[in-house]
Amino acid sequence: MRCPYCQGLDTRVVDSRLVGEGEQVRRRRQCSACGERFTTHEGPDLVMPRVVKSDGRREPFDEQKLRLGFRRALEKRPVATEALEAALRRICKRLSALGEREVAAAAIGEHVMEELRGLDEVAYVRFASVYRRFEDVGAFREVIEGLEQSQRGEQ
Ligand SMILES: [Zn+2]
Repeated sequence: MRCPYCQGLDTRVVDSRLVGEGEQVRRRRQCSACGERFTTHEGPDLVMPRVVKSDGRREPFDEQKLRLGFRRALEKRPVATEALEAALRRICKRLSALGEREVAAAAIGEHVMEELRGLDEVAYVRFASVYRRFEDVGAFREVIEGLEQSQRGEQ
């Protein structure tokens, strides 16, 4: 693997550890030429279903797009990148485990809402308000009431 800083080919692993629930290996590598360090993640290639959009168009599953959606919802919220990445991995694993060739974009949105709900309630409401477009006040109230109920459940 080439060094991302100087393109040198001679890099070595200085640290290696499992991340999340052990389904990925994170390696710290150091370039012998310039001395810079960088990180790589290694995990199994998941077979992802194609995404069916609400207008019926199909597109390849795009993890980066999902990540951006999370980042937008979590902007300026106190949530660690690691927690975001773990949530992302859980969604990918779940979608892959379905074994389906296609999955509705709306179903992915529901997974994202579920994960955001566990990460940060502000981000959850933020995402839900855009995602569900809150056509009326009732829909918004539903989400807030759902949150309050789950809070009571946890106490
Ligand atoms: Zn280098």
